[in-house]
Formats: sequence, structure tokens, C-alpha cells
Amino acid sequence: QEDQFKKVISHAKEYGYIFQSSEIYDGLSAVYDYAQNGVELKKNIREYWWKAMVQMNENIVGIDASILMHPTTWKASGHVDAFNDPLIDNKDSKKRYRADVLVEDYCAKIEAKIDKEVKKAAKRFGESFDKEQFLATNGRVLGYQEKINSILSRLAKSLENEDLADVKTLIEELEIADPLTGSKNWTDVKQFNLMFGTQLGASADSSMQVYLRPETAQGIFVNFLNVQKTGRMKIPFGIAQTGKAFRNEIVARQFIFRMREFEQMEMQFFIKPGTQKEWYKHWKETRLKWHLSLGMGEDNYRFHDHEKLAHYADAAADIEFKFPFGFKELEGIHSRTDFDLNQHEEFSGKKLQYFDHEENKSYVPYVLETSIGLDRMFLAVFSNSLQEEELENGTSRVVLKLPAVLAPTKAAILPLVKKDGLPEIARKIINDLKWDFNVAYDEKDAVGRRYRRQDAAGTPFCITVDHDTLEDNTVTIRHRDTMEQKRVKIDDLRSIIAQEVDM
Ligand code: ATP
Repeated sequence: QEDQFKKVISHAKEYGYIFQSSEIYDGLSAVYDYAQNGVELKKNIREYWWKAMVQMNENIVGIDASILMHPTTWKASGHVDAFNDPLIDNKDSKKRYRADVLVEDYCAKIEAKIDKEVKKAAKRFGESFDKEQFLATNGRVLGYQEKINSILSRLAKSLENEDLADVKTLIEELEIADPLTGSKNWTDVKQFNLMFGTQLGASADSSMQVYLRPETAQGIFVNFLNVQKTGRMKIPFGIAQTGKAFRNEIVARQFIFRMREFEQMEMQFFIKPGTQKEWYKHWKETRLKWHLSLGMGEDNYRFHDHEKLAHYADAAADIEFKFPFGFKELEGIHSRTDFDLNQHEEFSGKKLQYFDHEENKSYVPYVLETSIGLDRMFLAVFSNSLQEEELENGTSRVVLKLPAVLAPTKAAILPLVKKDGLPEIARKIINDLKWDFNVAYDEKDAVGRRYRRQDAAGTPFCITVDHDTLEDNTVTIRHRDTMEQKRVKIDDLRSIIAQEVDM
């Protein structure tokens, strides 16, 4: 698993998808740049989402709100007071940790030790080994497991009650339980706000503390009435948006899974109070269908229904995806009630109500939200597509099986040799196709090597121009996934490619 993840990261760099930010200065942690292919893949994912959410739905419109907002926004939304992670510093190593993650990591370490013991016993006892019985009767293992379960449930409780002293006690208990983790010298646990702050305005007295938005949602809430009135929208209706969000994440590992600067694709759907259960179900199903439409395997998705709900929600679920490091949240679907609009009414002193002509009354609508990280979706698509295949002739190939609609380059045009007029025909094909698709030209190396290069870069089609082309205006089109080759007319190329890559 870890190996596969390392391959994903190095492939993303080698094939021009993702670079570390400011690499020549040794990078900036949890900040990344999208390279020449990455920017295309990212744009295509965004467009695939926008088309499904905005273009295909008469009652959903888009906006593009700014990153900087009036600071009271974040008071109203609860982010100033409650958008925190519990942090703990190690006095010896001077390292800082997210306390809840530290507890979970310790539990995972102990769990791994139990696994090791189970494997050892299985080897010793051979076929007569019964895992369930071993776990149930082995005192040491049993003790560990009970401890882990109790600690994890106490962790959830103390985080909920913001009882930070308890979190520290749990860390210490785990260190005693597991001699390997070793006892360390910890500070108290403190809450740390995840918002990036900055100053607006130049002079000391007139400048104002503002924040880089930690989510795009609030830009939609504060514009709710503007859009409803100018767009003459009738409930139920949605407002969609894609854009940057910033969080000063402490545990910043796992590549682009958790970044400090990332992009969200969110949609807030405004509904009549009391109808939230139906709409929650509707959007859960609709969003899962969107994911499945990319053909990345049904088994790679699952719902995780939240038991512990955020203060603003009356129901919430994640769509989890099987990343190289296991099932993790990819998208959230939240029933947010009228919490946000009520808060903004209260803090702004402006009415944010909708007049329902059918009901002949005004009310603050309820909201259903779908929220997906664009970068996280990128990682899902990229990691799932990267495959190593054994071929019939005993060799293997690395292939990036991106869904064709999302691939950065749709076709590579390859003249078999660099002479006899073949490059000129290839250029002519490119000049015809580039109006509709991103296409590339490649004449270097033997054609087999060029195929492999395009396979690894994720290009769904290779089109080879050879000497027969001079006679009959046909070319060979090779399909990335099946490696099948077909002879087709140059005039038919556009429609053949469009069939697979049109959104
Ligand atoms: P997590 O529990 O992973 O921190 P979250 O529950 O805080 O995520 P939300 O606030 O619901 O996430 O944000 C919605 C979506 O935005 C997430 O499902 C995820 O895809 C994406 N997202 C959130 N934080 C980050 C981040 N730091 N880097 C990349 N994507 C993120």
C-alpha cells in the first residue's frame, strides 16, 4: 500500500502532473503546484462537476465569490470560535502534533502489534490456528484491544466536551500501555484555529484583520438573496461554486489529500423546512451516481453516515473512496438546516428570507450541501488510474487509465518515421483536431516506446501515420486500455475520439 502511494507521488511528478510548491527552496509543506498535465486533469474534473451540477440542472446556478470576506462572516459561521484542532507540543523534540491524531496513531501502532502476534501464532500453530479463539483467549491481546476501544471512545467524548486535559491523559496512558511509543515530555493540549489571517488596508489604525476563507460555502450563504432575487429562483434551488479554500492544517501529510491551500466544489441547495430528509436522500444518491459515472469501480466507494453531528447539521454523510492508504472521506453531504442563514441574519441584522408564493408566507430556507475537494478528487482519479500490467509477451507496462473524459491529452499523433512526408500529415491531423481536443505530437524514438510514454501519461488514443497513409488516407488508432489497433479514415478521427471523450 505504502509502495503504491509512493509510486503515485513520483509518477505525478515524472509525468508533469504535480510538483511540490517552491521546490527549489525545498518546498512548502502541504502546498503543491499543478503542472502542465495536472492543470488539464484538474480543469476537466472541475468541468465534469460543473456540467453535472449547473449545466444539467435548470434550478442550480453558479457564482464565483471572493476569497476575502467581511470578517464578521466568520464570526457568524462559527469559524472564529470553533474551527479548531487540539494541538500538543513535545518539549524534547520540539515537534507539534494534532492531539487526536496522535492518540489514533498510537492506537494504530498497538493494533499493528496485535496483528504481528496473530501472524506469529498462525505460523506456529499452522492449520489448527483459530484466529477468533486466539484473540478471545490471549490475555495480552485482549487487554490491548479493550484498552484501545475504551481509549478511542473516551477520546471522542473528551473532544466533544472540549475536555483537553483528558486528551493529554489518554496520550500518557497509551504511552504506558505501549512501551514502544516511549514516554515523552508533553505540553498541555491547546486549541488552535485553522484559519489563515491577514491584514486588509495599510495604515495601522485603519487596517482590519481578515481571513482567507476556510470553505467556499459562506460566499454562497451571504449571496443567497442576491442570487434568488436577480435570478428569480424558486425554492428548491441551488447555488454552486468552485474555488480556493485555505486551512492551516497541522497534520499535513498524504500528499494532496490534505493541503493548506486547496480547492472545493460546493453546492448549497435551498429547500422548504421539513423537506430536508427527502433532499438529503436525493443528493446522497445523485452524488454517488456522479462518482460511479466515471467508471472507477463501485467497490471503491462507500457511505459513512455520521453519528456525531456538527453543531449546524441534522444529518451528514461522507462518500468515502478507497485511496492507496485506505477508505477516506472524499465528499461530504450535509443537511445544514437553517443554521447558516439564521446566523447571518443575526450578525448582519438583514433579513435573509424567502417569500413562498404557494404557501403565501416567508421563511428562512433549509440547506442541503454537497462539498467535495477538487484536489482530493484528483488524487482519487489519479491513484486509481495508475496501474502496472503484465503483458502476454512477458513484459509489463505502466499505464495511467484515466477516464477518457478527464484525460489531459486526448490523442497523440505519431508519424512512424521522421521523413517521407509523414510528419507533415501528422501536423495536418493535429491542426484539424486541436480545435476540439487537446492533442500532442511525438516523433522521437521507436513507435513502441512512444506508445508506452503516452500510456504512462494517460493519453487514451495514439494515432500513427505510416506509409499506407500516403496511399489511402487511413491511420492506425490505438486504444490505451485494450492496446487494440484499428485502421480508420483520417476523416473519421474526430467522431471516433469524440465518442469516448465528450462529457
Ligand atoms: P477532513 O475531515 O478530511 O479534514 P472535513 O470534514 O474537514 O475534512 P469539509 O470541511 O467537510 O472537510 O470539506 C469538504 C471537502 O473538502 C472534504 O470532503 C474534502 O474533500 C475537502 N477538503 C477539506 N479539507 C481539505 C484539505 N485540507 N485538503 C484538501 N481537501 C480538503
